[in-house]
Amino acid sequence: MITYSIGLKNKFRGITVREGMLFEGPAGWAEWSPFLDYDDATCVSWLRAAREAAEVGWPAPVRDRVPVNCTVPALGPEKAAEIVRASGCSTAKVKVAEPGQTLADDIARVEAVRDAIGAGRVRIDANGAWSVDQAVRSLRELRRFDLEYVEQPSATVEELAEVRRRTDVPVAADESIRRAEDPLLVKKLDAADIAVLKVQPIGGVRACLDIAEQIGLPVVVSSALETSVGIAAGVALAAALPELPYACGLATVSMFTSELVTEPLAAVDGFLPVKRVVPDAHLVEAALADAERTKVWEERLMRVRSAG
Ligand SMILES: [Mg+2]
Repeated sequence: MITYSIGLKNKFRGITVREGMLFEGPAGWAEWSPFLDYDDATCVSWLRAAREAAEVGWPAPVRDRVPVNCTVPALGPEKAAEIVRASGCSTAKVKVAEPGQTLADDIARVEAVRDAIGAGRVRIDANGAWSVDQAVRSLRELRRFDLEYVEQPSATVEELAEVRRRTDVPVAADESIRRAEDPLLVKKLDAADIAVLKVQPIGGVRACLDIAEQIGLPVVVSSALETSVGIAAGVALAAALPELPYACGLATVSMFTSELVTEPLAAVDGFLPVKRVVPDAHLVEAALADAERTKVWEERLMRVRSAG
């Protein structure tokens, strides 16, 4: 069992260092990396996902590579365009509704991304930050950039449903699925056109496949900012889905300052290969957390085990 600690190139969710644990079982290596602000009960499903990876493995893939989007943080238009051009991806996900910024900032960023990606696809993610009225007003401006969809425009499922009725931009549900008591409420309330699924929060590849089947919406698989070991689980889900009409949000290892495997699951020409990965002893050594952080994680694991 290994506790890792790896720096992030840019602040994400308020953190600059990503921590987690890796363990190996009969089926292969697994990553368990719930964010540090999550309570033990929330971490149970994350552990279920890791156990599946280590003990059971994943269903057989139906494709050998997975299309992925590049992610554009809430930066200025020049930097945004640069990220898109450097990525090689033909789908870009642009962060909007950043606290402290204005709709004009969002318009400038999305416009720059649209120009940079040409005939490619542009989606935006508000992470639930808009009220319904703000979402409708913002989408009225942003829809001219030919949006593939807007992810989580507002916080609640009820709000998503209302936004969806008042705009012609397709709506994707992210937080409304993985943080919800009932992930299918999105379907019951006709609140989304697309479901974003993340393996760790939902509790494994099979749990995600079950939700995908029950929810009856096209799925976009996204990461929870894992190392390549954890990303492999997201890739396995994307590879096992019967249909995959959208690029996935799995090209996130580029946000790390170092890696644990010699051939990271990083995008090449907008795709990730479908494969399992094995940590490299030297890279792991360099990324080991110190004794204090290791103890924090080992105690957390014990508590979550008994909570599950
Ligand atoms: Mg999202």
